[in-house]
Amino acid sequence: MDLVTLRRDVHSHPEPAFCELRTAALVLSHLRKLPVRIRTGALALGGIPAYPDDATLERFADLAIHSGADAGDVATLAREGTAIVADLEGSRPGPTWALRFDMDALPVTEAAGATHFPAAQGFRSAYEGFMHACGHDGHVAIGLGLAERLSDRDFPGTVRFLFQPAEEGGRGARAMLGADVVEGVDRFAAVHLGLDLPAGTVAAGITGIFATTKMRARFTGVASHAAAAPQDGRNALLAAATAVLGIHGLPRFSTADTRVNVGTLHAGGNVNIVPALAELTCEARSRDGAVNAELTERVKQVLRGAALAQGVTVDIEETGGSTSLTCDDELLDAVLAAASGHETVRLHEMGGSDDASLFAEAVQRAGGLATYIVVGGGNPAPHHNPYFDVDESALPVAVDVLAALIR
Ligand SMILES: [Zn+2]
Ligand SMILES: [Zn+2]
Repeated sequence: MDLVTLRRDVHSHPEPAFCELRTAALVLSHLRKLPVRIRTGALALGGIPAYPDDATLERFADLAIHSGADAGDVATLAREGTAIVADLEGSRPGPTWALRFDMDALPVTEAAGATHFPAAQGFRSAYEGFMHACGHDGHVAIGLGLAERLSDRDFPGTVRFLFQPAEEGGRGARAMLGADVVEGVDRFAAVHLGLDLPAGTVAAGITGIFATTKMRARFTGVASHAAAAPQDGRNALLAAATAVLGIHGLPRFSTADTRVNVGTLHAGGNVNIVPALAELTCEARSRDGAVNAELTERVKQVLRGAALAQGVTVDIEETGGSTSLTCDDELLDAVLAAASGHETVRLHEMGGSDDASLFAEAVQRAGGLATYIVVGGGNPAPHHNPYFDVDESALPVAVDVLAALIR
């Protein structure tokens, strides 16, 4: 299995959250050649916020089949969801590991100029408007490469490969946890490429990961003539605008770093009508999970208060989220030992969020250990940028380090 070929194939077919049909079918086709126990439909489909509608899934299913994916597998994955779990048993007793590999791409239009390596090398996104701009194409290749490497079963315990959909936006891990995918797991690790580390440098863990909650609020009021009967209207736009200022006006916490952002606001219908509808999306973040939970509650309080002030109703939906993560020292030591011979750092400062933290939390709560490994990819542009890329020399480094960690 050639890691670079695999990565480029996935890179040129980027699929957004829960639409990873071609990618998951590719994962299945490789796993079937290995001595693993495969579980499809490894997620609780009910209650996933903003899950893609049938037309969207059909579109990506067509694209997948037309670019070589098995039609039967694509149909199964479209019906059951794209999460895949594969268990590989070692030849002697030992711990059960769970390793997370996320598969989703982003709604970003990839750069086309010759300075962008994937464009120059002919493996730029074939799906206009979508791009692997976070390195998850590499993660898929690493996961499959590792499964192949360990298929001699010369290691203690069991390795459970979690091929996860929808990391971006924080919905995939929660849905997979709903299907009990880390039950009985003793050690958890996620691996991420890039994060501004030099190519090949290995960080055994991360620090400063943000817990986050994504929310959507819909305000519903009453439309009315803006001049003839404004008193009969109930102004949803005003309520939303009040909420925007209120959310950004929430106090900071002295106990932990926090962020708030209102990212979108759409309201009203016409210049001479009291606006009856408004919708906004916002997020809370904190490096402390409990503080994020309290900040989230305060954001909701502002949303409800603003609605009350204007006599409108508000419907608040949590559309995604993840928690913070403290990497366990024992695993940090183990990763550093496995990565001897490479440039290493013990902890890398992470400026964002990743819902792998939810898997980690579940494993740690049950008495297990967790870490989040970073393998530098010398990325020439920031994550989620049209010029993002990873140095492919990082792929075998990640496989080597993970294999050494398991053995
Ligand atoms: Zn990302
Ligand atoms: Zn990512």
